[in-house]
Amino acid sequence: MSFWPDTLTPVNRGEPAMPMNRIQFQPGVSLPEFFLRYGTEAQCEAAMAELRWPDGFRCPRCASAAHYVVGHGARKLFQCQACRHQTSLTAGTVMDSTKLPLRTWFLAIFLVSQDKTGLSSLALMRQLGTSYRTAWLIHHKLMATMAGRDSQQPLSGSVQLDDAYLGGERPGVGGRGSPNKVPIVAAVQTNDAGNPMRVKLSPVAGFTCDAIASWAKANLLPGCDVRSDGLGCFAGVIDAGCAHSYIVVGQRKPRELPQFTWVNTVLANLKTMINGGHKAFKFAKYAAHYLGAFAYRFNGRFDLKTLLLDLIAHAATRSPVRERQIRGKAEVHD
Ligand SMILES: [Zn+2]
Repeated sequence: MSFWPDTLTPVNRGEPAMPMNRIQFQPGVSLPEFFLRYGTEAQCEAAMAELRWPDGFRCPRCASAAHYVVGHGARKLFQCQACRHQTSLTAGTVMDSTKLPLRTWFLAIFLVSQDKTGLSSLALMRQLGTSYRTAWLIHHKLMATMAGRDSQQPLSGSVQLDDAYLGGERPGVGGRGSPNKVPIVAAVQTNDAGNPMRVKLSPVAGFTCDAIASWAKANLLPGCDVRSDGLGCFAGVIDAGCAHSYIVVGQRKPRELPQFTWVNTVLANLKTMINGGHKAFKFAKYAAHYLGAFAYRFNGRFDLKTLLLDLIAHAATRSPVRERQIRGKAEVHD
């Protein structure tokens, strides 16, 4: 079963179809192509410098351009001639304080952004040749970066909305009210032809009007046309300036209806991803990272090369993600 929704029939509709389509067969970035561009430390340093200082070095303290380069390799420092402040290529970025070569980070970004089902930390450890702890930290820093990047772009237009749970004995989509599960909201923006464009997957404090209103304000542009089933809390999207219509079909969720095809397909893909490689993660603590990274990859699925360059650029320019932030309680909308 493929991660990409166009290759799947919706959940509860029997065997997945296997059409050859442009998403499944798009070339992406090959490993030789990646190594040609980012295979050496010098290439990665040049890429970082270009992203951080596109118009040449600027001292982060006094904005002076004149500087010396001192040290070697990963310890290379840029010292401002005016104020003597020292900085490095990675200071103040997602790679802040790293002792790893930049090429290890770039390889991790390649692996994490191009893998269709989302790599596990264990798989990343094997591919990078680092300790598990190092791979785990890189993985979570990059997932947090992807989630942060994706959160900057709210959905607009027609949106299918559904509720689900992560966790429990069998991770994936569970029933409402199940104990020990993390409530999540899944939303899919569709185009005029009814095809899925972008998704949002977010842990929420619970299925209450306040939680949904808070989620909608952060994830939907005002004016969205939101469709959901009859779960009362979804009317909370009205507080975010969205229109809301709901469909009720007896006791069951209306999964058979075309209005919910894509949101259910996305949830089925999420379930496949979790069952495939991420069984061990702590849902309550890390759901926001995994879901945000899933959404980021999904939303960039039409152009894997751009996805790679976007993640490199974001990792090189976004603020550091600290281990204590990662290990702290995950942020949820409440
Ligand atoms: Zn300076």
